[in-house]
Order: sequence, then structure tokens, then C-alpha cells
Amino acid sequence: MCSTEWTRRYFLKNAAAAAGAVAAVPGVAFAAPRSTPPQARVTLTNVRVFDGRTVGAPTSVTIENGVIGFSPLGTRTIDAKGAVLLPGLIDAHVHLTDVTTLQQLTAHGVTTAMDMAGWPASHVDSLRHQAGLTDIRSAGVPAAEPGSIQSHLPGFPASALLTSPQQALPFVAARVTEGSDYVKVIVDVPGLSPDIIEALARAAHAYGRALMAHAVSAQAIDIALDAGADMVHHTPLDVALDPGTVAQYKAGGRVSVPTLTMMQGFAQLGIPGLDYAAASGSVVALHQAGVTILAGTDANLTPGIPVQPAYGASLHQELKLLVQAGLSNVEALRAATVVPAAAFGLYDRGVIRPGARADLVLIGGDPTTDITATGDIQRVWAAGVEYPLTA
Ligand SMILES: [Zn+2]
Repeated sequence: MCSTEWTRRYFLKNAAAAAGAVAAVPGVAFAAPRSTPPQARVTLTNVRVFDGRTVGAPTSVTIENGVIGFSPLGTRTIDAKGAVLLPGLIDAHVHLTDVTTLQQLTAHGVTTAMDMAGWPASHVDSLRHQAGLTDIRSAGVPAAEPGSIQSHLPGFPASALLTSPQQALPFVAARVTEGSDYVKVIVDVPGLSPDIIEALARAAHAYGRALMAHAVSAQAIDIALDAGADMVHHTPLDVALDPGTVAQYKAGGRVSVPTLTMMQGFAQLGIPGLDYAAASGSVVALHQAGVTILAGTDANLTPGIPVQPAYGASLHQELKLLVQAGLSNVEALRAATVVPAAAFGLYDRGVIRPGARADLVLIGGDPTTDITATGDIQRVWAAGVEYPLTA
């Protein structure tokens, strides 16, 4: 099936018709064991720090024992005159394949990535705790409907194809046992029935996990919100969200991960009925209503998916698109740092303060005045380990 046809079926909700649409995936690549690289013990001097609100006057920041230190005594000094230091960036929606994808993320300053579907759990585990590389969280395998596009992905476990609400609790329990950090559900029309999605939300919450909903149509988003999903990923490409839906996000404290980069990629395929203006229009409305918005890209290498945003580089594109959709530069930066850190409960990162994880990006310009400056990366540290950027 050509990519245009794939996209048409994906967005026109004819999920069952797409059976067999996805090519076989090559064997899963496992991470090679890594030796632990040395942690930096260094003080950046004359560096201007983004504190979550503004870029301040030149100061010093020490990196020691993987965290931001309290004292520069005895550390090596790097003169960072003219440069700006950001907290390591967080991509709230990726699909990881192997260590190479972690390296690409790290090289682009993305030091935390939220994997939104990965299996088997042993493979996801092999990508966790890679010293000097992007720190990950994962949904593990998502819940999906039998016959859906996802159900045809190679290796997709039959146990994740739900047909009744009674399967929700065991499904979530299995994810928790496997180490999933949150639960993901594919909401589509036609797709899983609303009572199954509701049961998944209840089960996830009973286990202290948030429910992530994949939803690409206005109808699917309404189902996800009604069912109690905590975060809704993607934005429709046919029509912007209506005021009632936007109000429901706000009233329920729901979070949007619009993945504008991915939506723009689909719109650029030139398929009638898919319009990027609808996706960006939804972000305008969500932002104006004060809904929490996170930067996420949907970076993936999934066989058969015609849009595959590049790991790391795409987050910088997402920041630009968020600014074009009305977020201020500071709001966009927060949507990729402190806001996702809080939304995912990662309170050790997202801000530059003594004691926080030393996930840091040193860039050549001031992104509060020019958002594209985030792409001018000079140095990156992941939990205090400097990533070797090639010049
Ligand atoms: Zn995705």
C-alpha cells in the first residue's frame, strides 16, 4: 500500500480496512552494553541561564556527581561567554527503536524522551538507564482494538487487543508488572468501545498511572476526554477542536500533546481533507483557553508510517510550530522543559537549580528572543555526562 493510501485510511478511520498495511519489521535491535562514561566535574562561567521565565545575567553553574552542584571549588572551568544554558529538553511523544535513536535525541539536547508504544518490555528495558544518553519513560504496549492498524504491527501481542471492559484491569496490571510508566490506549472511530477506554482509565488510575490516549479525530478526542484520559496525543487534521471540547480539556485539567510536527508531515502529503491549519488552529484554541500543552514530535521509524520525524531535530521544529500557533517563546521552551517534567512527575529535572539532574543544553543564542536558537547546540550533558558532539 502506498503511503497516501495508508494515510487516507488512518485518518478516515477505516482502521479495519488497513489490515496488512504495515510491512514486517526487521528483528528488534538490542542495546549493546555500555561502559559508564566519566561524569563531568565542571563549572560553566559567564553563562546566561534560562530559569523558566527569562534568560538572566551571566553567572556560573557547576556540574558534579550527575547533578547541578552547589560549589565550584575544585572543578574544571569552561568559559561559556555569550552562550545560554537551557534545561535538557523533553520530548513528550517518541517511539524508540534502538540506542542510535537515543544518541540522536541526546545530540539534539533532548535528554528525556517519553516513549509512547514499545514492546516487548525487555527491549524497552534495554534502552533504560543508558549512561550519558537520553533518559526514557515508556508506555510499553498500548491497548488497541482487534483489527486496528496497531494490531497488525509486527510482534503486537494479542493480549493487548481488548474486547471487553473486564480485560482492562488485567491489561493495566500486566503493564505495571512489566514496568510501564504510564498506560496508552488507541482511541479511534471505529475502535475500542468507550466503556473499555473508561475501564482502562479507572484501572490506570487505580495503579497510579496516567492514561495516554492516541486520538486523531475530534470524535476520538471527545471519547478520550469523556473516558477520563489524562493526556490526549495528536490533533485533528480535518477540523479544529470546537469550544466545548477545548473547555472540557481545561475543566478536567487534561493535557494536550498536539505533535504538530507529525500533523504537519501528514498534511504535507497533499491528501485532500488533511489541513495543517486545523491542527494549528486547535493549538491556538487550547492555548488561549489555558490548557497545558506539551512539546512532542512522534519521532518514529515504524515501518509503513509515511511520516517519520527525525529524533531530536524534530523537537526544535515542534518548538517553532508551537510559537507559530501562538505560544510565546518562553511558553514553548517551558512546554519542552519544566511543564512536561511536572506533567509526568519528573521533579528532578526541567529546571536549572542546585540538586537537579544535570541535564543541560548549551546553545549559541537566546531562544527567548529567537526560538530557532535552540538548534545552535554547543554542548549537551545528560545526567552530568557530556555527550561527544562531532563538530
Ligand atoms: Zn506516536
